[in-house]
Amino acid sequence: MSRSKEAFKQAKEVIPGGVNSPARAFAAVDSDPLFIEKGTGALIYDIEGNEYIDYVGSWGPMILGYNHPQVIESLQQQLMKGTSFGAPTEVETELAKLVIGAVDSIDQVRMVNSGTEATMSALRLARGYTGKDKIIKLKGCYHGHGDSLLVEAGSGVTTLGISGSPGVPDEIAEETIVAPYNNLEAIEEIYNTYQGQIAAVILEPVTGNMGVIRPQVGYLEGLREITATNNSLLIFDEVMTGFRLAYGGAQELYEIEPDITTLGKIIGGGLPVGAYGGKKEIMEYVAPAGPVYQAGTLSGNPLAMAAGIETLKLLQQPGVYSMLEEKAAKLEKGFKDNIKQLEVAADVSRVGSMFSIFFTDKQVIDYKTAKESDTDAFTTYFKQMLAAGIYLPPSQFESNFVSLAHVEADLDATIEANYNALAKVKKKQEG
Ligand SMILES: *Cc1c(COP(=O)(O)O)cnc(C)c1O
Repeated sequence: MSRSKEAFKQAKEVIPGGVNSPARAFAAVDSDPLFIEKGTGALIYDIEGNEYIDYVGSWGPMILGYNHPQVIESLQQQLMKGTSFGAPTEVETELAKLVIGAVDSIDQVRMVNSGTEATMSALRLARGYTGKDKIIKLKGCYHGHGDSLLVEAGSGVTTLGISGSPGVPDEIAEETIVAPYNNLEAIEEIYNTYQGQIAAVILEPVTGNMGVIRPQVGYLEGLREITATNNSLLIFDEVMTGFRLAYGGAQELYEIEPDITTLGKIIGGGLPVGAYGGKKEIMEYVAPAGPVYQAGTLSGNPLAMAAGIETLKLLQQPGVYSMLEEKAAKLEKGFKDNIKQLEVAADVSRVGSMFSIFFTDKQVIDYKTAKESDTDAFTTYFKQMLAAGIYLPPSQFESNFVSLAHVEADLDATIEANYNALAKVKKKQEG
């Protein structure tokens, strides 16, 4: 038995399913997970010492690559001062200022400990601010595991093939109305049916959790207009896209200002952080400035702030986002050439350094079209890539992440492995 298999067996005795977050279990690709020992740059090593070129990046945060020396140094300095005080520290203000400087729609920001906490808190704030109860979420978008948002969710939930979850009361789920992504008429219809009752629309402006899908031209503009007209709020969940697609997130790229933005992943530089922010008028509803209660013993944790601050500072360097774009564009072109040459029914969907390969010949615009992908083909592809030393997110319905640490040789090796893996898919499909 391999060491990872043995480690998984032991973990399963003491942790539900052997993992602390379901997607890690590799169930969607009919495999056992690798247990990871360490990472450096774009590479990770399993506990047997095997090396992989990694495109998971801890599901998004590791945009600089693993163990960036400046982030480590910053963490070491904070570590010597103390790990948590439950009292205000200046590093919290420093990270808040960096976030506000980056994202135009944010005047004030509250730090929390995860993306889930950020979206849960953002919904409470939207409801408290508007005095309305219903939320519109989009099918296939994932916003963490809060009750109101675990309704027809994407990511792990999609992958496991369950809708919602036992333990989420129907009364709560009923306050969430689900619409397809990239469909403005559906949103208008909901506003007509539930006039004066919708607190907010929440979405991933570019989706990652059902695979990468871009907003169609005019879609985000339409959402901005409909929500404003109806006195409800537009919430961009940029936990994945924030500081990833541009320094100012998807809202910078598409030039749309939401009312509330949720952040996470990159702003913690690999430590547990989430945040939600928006215009001062809205954020001053949050306690202790206002009546909407939200708190956290470890919120604004100095170690996490230190990693976040250093990460954001490094992302301010000129040319960072064009470098990410170049690297990801190279992979896209290489993969697309391979797909064409081998005549596989697949396509690459990419925005900046986020991309997915959908194994379908249809155009993917929403959850329904994403789900038409051939997941058996993906499983074959995934296993071949892993055997070739390329570590991918273990599901068709996830995003790959390119980091600044991926070098030309990594990209070339990945494109070559992609060719061989696609050839295997093709062979299997032809039976
Ligand atoms: C990852 C993610 C979350 C959840 O964040 P956690 O830190 O895992 O709780 C929420 N929304 C989006 C868009 C995400 O990608």
